[in-house]
Amino acid sequence: MTRHVYDTVIVGAGIVGAALALALRDSGLSLALVEPQTPVVPETDWDSRIYAISPGSAAFLQSMGIWQKFDVSRIAPVYGMEIRGDNGALLNFDAYREGLPQLAWIMESNRIQHGLWTALQQQSNLTIFSARTRQLSWSAEAGYLLLDDASELSAKLIVAADGGQSWVRSQAGIGSRSETYRQFGIVANFAVERTHDGIARQWFREDGVLAWLPLPDRHISIVWGTDDAHTQTLLAANPQDFADEVARAGNRVLGELRQTGAAAAFPLNFKRVDALVKPRLALIGDAAHSVHPLAGQGVNLGLRDAQSLSGVLLARGAADCGDFALLRRYERSRAGDIAAIQTVTDGLHHLFRHRNPWVAKLRNTGLALANRIDPLKSLLVRQALG
Ligand SMILES: Cc1cc2nc3c(=O)[nH]c(=O)nc-3n(C[C@H](O)[C@H](O)[C@H](O)COP(=O)(O)OP(=O)(O)OC[C@H]3O[C@@H](n4cnc5c(N)ncnc54)[C@H](O)[C@@H]3O)c2cc1C
Repeated sequence: MTRHVYDTVIVGAGIVGAALALALRDSGLSLALVEPQTPVVPETDWDSRIYAISPGSAAFLQSMGIWQKFDVSRIAPVYGMEIRGDNGALLNFDAYREGLPQLAWIMESNRIQHGLWTALQQQSNLTIFSARTRQLSWSAEAGYLLLDDASELSAKLIVAADGGQSWVRSQAGIGSRSETYRQFGIVANFAVERTHDGIARQWFREDGVLAWLPLPDRHISIVWGTDDAHTQTLLAANPQDFADEVARAGNRVLGELRQTGAAAAFPLNFKRVDALVKPRLALIGDAAHSVHPLAGQGVNLGLRDAQSLSGVLLARGAADCGDFALLRRYERSRAGDIAAIQTVTDGLHHLFRHRNPWVAKLRNTGLALANRIDPLKSLLVRQALG
């Protein structure tokens, strides 16, 4: 069997791996992308996987000519955010007050994925392998992959974009510290009685964190991070009881809710990896970090990895794309952002899980206090715009 030789092989074409491949279209590098699952063609039903896409991520997608192709009728701008503590303390953000057109956009995962995939079909420096990786080995000059369709690939650089359980990361022997939050993120979509005015709402509750994200017209998408037993109860409820429970948990601020489409639940984990790079290897996206979705930052963080790594590779000059010094530049550029998001999301999760009444008082006072300090709020907004 002949070996296919590339400059870079990207393993995994989730949103992050696919975005990296697209960002490298004018890089002069020969690329391969390995992904066993072809993204589904979106239908009229709304995807229950919804992302809050930051302006920074939108600008990245725009720079690749893909943002412009999304159907605007499927995107909801976020004009404000209301975050409530477990005793009603409020922290709110307003795009108008910050001098911004919007804080984020709410979009369906399958449309982003399909848009990227469609663009990749026309990319002349890219070959897509519909297969899963089976073996990985290294020499000083290259990484060597055997796929489950028996294809053999070699590349100067292997990029792991294969998600939180990254096979490439474990084959490469990069250690990680992970913690299960013993929670699931339940996602579901609802029609609502009252207009949401483009406001994203979040409640830090005793049973977890509930987010209501605006969708076009009178619809919302929810992410409810809650423990296993509560997840099972909610998923076993009939659609009317489930909708009623979600409406009640959100104090019926949008009136009654009606579920549209099926709910799904995803286990929530924290993962910090020992290194983002090794000679001839770089990790991006969830392969490089897993964070609690309470700040809606996972995919944004991954897109910033893809943007940073593509920037380093585009500016490589005559350097070998798998050169360790070059890859270290990518690793250094990402360290601060990843650490900050991990610290904030993990810290908030633990702070609001604490049962001690003094901690409860302190966290709610903190929220209320932060709400009165406009420069602090502006700083938080600018950080989240990413
Ligand atoms: C409930 C929930 C809500 C969330 N909400 C938000 C949000 O609002 N905003 C946000 O920014 N983030 C959010 N996230 C986080 C976000 O989903 C992830 O950060 C994001 O999907 C990671 O993308 P990725 O491309 O790195 O990995 P993945 O999406 O996991 O993609 C990995 C890809 O690799 C492929 N693959 C795996 N193994 C192999 C192999 N051996 N060979 C070849 N291919 C392989 C898989 O098929 C897959 O396509 C949320 C997460 C959860 C659980």
